[in-house]
Amino acid sequence: MAEKQKKGEHGKIVNISGPVVKAKNMKGAKMYDLVRVGDEGLVGEIIELYEDVATIQVYEETSGLKPGEKVIDTNAPLSVELAPGLITSVYDGIQRPLPLIKAKVGDFITRGIDVPPIDREKKWHFLPKIKVDDELHGGDVLGTVQETPIVEHRIMVPPFVKGVVKWIAKEGDYGIEEKIAVIKGNGEKALSMLQKWPVRVPRPIKKNLDPELPLITGQRVFDTFFPIAKGGTAAIPGGFGTGKTVSEHQLARWSDADVVIYIGCGERGNEMTEVLRDFPKLEDPRTGEPLMNRTILIANTSNMPVAAREASIYTGITLAEYYRDMGYDVALMADSTSRWAEALREISGRLEEMPGEEGYPAYLAHRLAEFYERAGRVRTINNKEGSISVVGAVSPPGGDFSEPVSQGTLRITKVFWALDTDLAYRRHFPAVNWLRSYSLYLDQVKDWWEKNVGEGWLKLRNRAMALLQKEEELKEIIQLVGPDALPPRDRIALEGARVIREDFLQQHAYHPVDTYCPKEKQFEMLRIMLKFYDLMDNAIQNGISMDEIKSLKCWEMIARMATVPNDEYEKRFKKIENEMEKEISNLEK
Ligand code: ADP
Ligand code: MG
Repeated sequence: MAEKQKKGEHGKIVNISGPVVKAKNMKGAKMYDLVRVGDEGLVGEIIELYEDVATIQVYEETSGLKPGEKVIDTNAPLSVELAPGLITSVYDGIQRPLPLIKAKVGDFITRGIDVPPIDREKKWHFLPKIKVDDELHGGDVLGTVQETPIVEHRIMVPPFVKGVVKWIAKEGDYGIEEKIAVIKGNGEKALSMLQKWPVRVPRPIKKNLDPELPLITGQRVFDTFFPIAKGGTAAIPGGFGTGKTVSEHQLARWSDADVVIYIGCGERGNEMTEVLRDFPKLEDPRTGEPLMNRTILIANTSNMPVAAREASIYTGITLAEYYRDMGYDVALMADSTSRWAEALREISGRLEEMPGEEGYPAYLAHRLAEFYERAGRVRTINNKEGSISVVGAVSPPGGDFSEPVSQGTLRITKVFWALDTDLAYRRHFPAVNWLRSYSLYLDQVKDWWEKNVGEGWLKLRNRAMALLQKEEELKEIIQLVGPDALPPRDRIALEGARVIREDFLQQHAYHPVDTYCPKEKQFEMLRIMLKFYDLMDNAIQNGISMDEIKSLKCWEMIARMATVPNDEYEKRFKKIENEMEKEISNLEK
């Protein structure tokens, strides 16, 4: 093995191309080592090695950098810090805290600056959970810290570390670098609340578990029609303005996850600024606490270097794994992964690699898979159950899903929420195309729904889906023969489908009630709508005219079900159902 750089030794820049720098004399350097580049010590990562020449992607603006400047190998891979203080933080793609840096230098991130990702000064109230002589393994909980009013941070033995407890700190206030335990395995080891983990390496688990619990999002088209499981993966592809960002925000806000990691790559100029401004004001519906008390934001603005954007999804998923290991359900939103892929493409181009489809590197699909494969519901190394659900937005140019990023993503993710430009144009939101979208978790989450929400859930959902498919077929017939030629029962089917589309699938993100629909309410809405359809279908067969059916008062009531306050809907829905039955049976008299 080659020797490491000795103290005082360093590499030398020979070439600079945007975010990509070549350096020679990099004796002993390893792939993915973190390096400090140039006199300012810019942060970079080795992504190619040939003898002692290293190619480095630099996470900071490289203008002003000159050949001949030094490169120092830190001999460690790009890693994140893990400790209390992560939740509520806002980071860039390599975990540099945004507001803190802002306070320090007045403006956005300045180059080469070393601000630790997690505050060193702050004291956390540590409650030990183990005692001297306990035998511990990786993942075991040393003690807890109330990180925010809603997240208990479980301080764990780092993976692969084991031994017998020699000393444990008393309950009290400690900084993250202070010693809180000493364990003896192969020699004595002092542990603090702070750990590090290389972002490109998945944290170990004991085993994968079946994704049979739904991630409840409060969004009807997701939960009832195309559900994602806890530990599942979903893609939201859609053209500009189809509602990707609004959907990701809704998911971040309403999902029944314990911890939310939101990775934003701004599509429009000030989109990320809006996120940074708006998120801290949002409230967690379950606890009334600020939403940030269960959230970590990773922000990539357009003025940040592409390499940091490339790293951001690994940083995000590593933070997610850490909270999963505590036994939490974590939801990770990435908006938009297309911006990430473009960063990959730009760096690949600078490396003069052989371009694949549309200029993306041939390993694009592989990288996408590596990322999504870190999702899952698992048994952790200390036998807890935890999950990471991942929802990635994809923004195909022109809304054409045949491009490489959409295709690469769809091959991996198990849920496909296809956003549709026509629907968005008609202001049908969420603009999820019900005929193109799918969920491969339907059968897996069925038992949970039937047991916890309503008997016959899947059948109900499938009937609604069948009605929508029938509508599509009938629409084709109408194009050929006109609407008047349709038999009465088919015209009723069209009306039934319209109710599902307009009053169930559409959901207004900005309406105070409709923005979140409890799962039981979703079930009841769909049940009553289908019952209405059945009653109409019966009535028309009993000779009641279309005009008479159209004149019913219950249309109005059904259309307003979505906005019935969530604490009154049970009572009010019962009334609607009774009225509906009474009105129709009156017609038939
Ligand atoms: P994208 O990220 O796909 O470019 P956005 O998420 O920014 O699109 O959505 C564009 C606009 O569509 C929003 O500003 C909003 O007006 C509207 N919109 C999207 N989804 C919804 C929704 N569920 N309810 C109401 N309006 C929506
Ligand atoms: Mg967007």
